[in-house]
Amino acid sequence: MTASTRADCAALDAATPPALQALAARFAPGEPDTLYFDANSIGPMPADVPQRMQTLLDAGWRAARRRSWNDADWLSQPRSLGAAVAPLLGAQADEVQVCDSTSINWYKLLQLGLRAAAPRRVLVVQADGFPSNSYVAQGIAHAGGAALRRIAHIDQLNAALAPGDVAVVALSHVDYRSSVRLDLAAITALAHQHGALALWDVSHSAGAVGVDLNAAQADLAVGCGYKYLCGGPGAPALMFVARRWQDAAWPALAGWMGHADTFAFAADYQPARGMARHQVGTPAVIANACFAAAAAIWVEVDAGALAARHASLGDTFIQLLDQDGADAGLHLASPRQAQQRGGHVALRFAAPGADVQALGQALVAAGVVVSTRKPDALRFGLHPLTTRHVDLWEAVQRLRAILADARWREPRFQAAMV
Ligand SMILES: *Cc1c(COP(=O)(O)O)cnc(C)c1O
Repeated sequence: MTASTRADCAALDAATPPALQALAARFAPGEPDTLYFDANSIGPMPADVPQRMQTLLDAGWRAARRRSWNDADWLSQPRSLGAAVAPLLGAQADEVQVCDSTSINWYKLLQLGLRAAAPRRVLVVQADGFPSNSYVAQGIAHAGGAALRRIAHIDQLNAALAPGDVAVVALSHVDYRSSVRLDLAAITALAHQHGALALWDVSHSAGAVGVDLNAAQADLAVGCGYKYLCGGPGAPALMFVARRWQDAAWPALAGWMGHADTFAFAADYQPARGMARHQVGTPAVIANACFAAAAAIWVEVDAGALAARHASLGDTFIQLLDQDGADAGLHLASPRQAQQRGGHVALRFAAPGADVQALGQALVAAGVVVSTRKPDALRFGLHPLTTRHVDLWEAVQRLRAILADARWREPRFQAAMV
């Protein structure tokens, strides 16, 4: 269906499967008259987070104190939270763990891949990848642990693999600027043909679009907990290790939580079996309690229906922009095909004198919360549960008004913004 009016959008919202509508209602509303398109930065808050936090603080910390390690689920949460989101990744429950940050898990899994593929020591990485992912790989190379081969475009992967010395191909599933989504299965297969492992960062796809790690035979993956997955500000991250690699080597960071018998306090390290060995230290209990609210929602989600609704949101947004935005200097920077897009839709602002940061600030002032990336990208992060088609319609009206009166040129929108 082509959406061109507010009524069309309302009809698409009404056609959302009732189960998904019910799950959307479990998130807290944002500020009145404010439309949030920042799921690519920080997802919405489940409504029961305050009550869960209160219980954790009062019953867990104040009253039970150290007994909570046994009586509550504090120790097992990295794996129970991982199990809750595993179906969204096309993974088995015992292949996903929630711990540490995305950057740290990226380090851990680059090192695991290097050990599993030894004596190969080449890492293929994206020249313009997410900065932290690039820096972590550079740090490993700087310490003498690997040699980097950087590719500027995915078309160069074949040539990068050709020498037959690559240990790990480490890529973002979805580009954080353009939202271009790579073909997980085809690229993983290509890496395997050349004897390399595939490590994926699914930060901009997990919880938004279909991710099927096992169908693609992916080896390793990390993902951000606080974006589409709604784990809360600074939430711990996901790590996926396919069963066949979980016991392949010592973890890069051998910590007591990854020991075969943590509370034996043994002098010597002995790795636990399975995902547990990829944990390092004490779980972030407070952050995990927050993430648990989202996990309780994710276990009820049908991943296929979720991805279908997300595709409908993206397609609708692009149709509305085609109709309303094109001649004002805004251009689609993401693929038109939903299957080739990740969680957000990126636009390029290229009018004479265009300043995307100023446009972003003018939008925020008009109650349309978006994010920008230099030099000219405007990003609309669409949450598959909470974003409504009518929100897209309203956002496009406000965007059009700002472009029509060139409000973004006003001095109050010129300050630098994070
Ligand atoms: C957001 C994001 C991260 C976040 O890393 P942190 O360690 O949580 O700061 C990593 N990779 C990608 C691709 C991201 O988009």
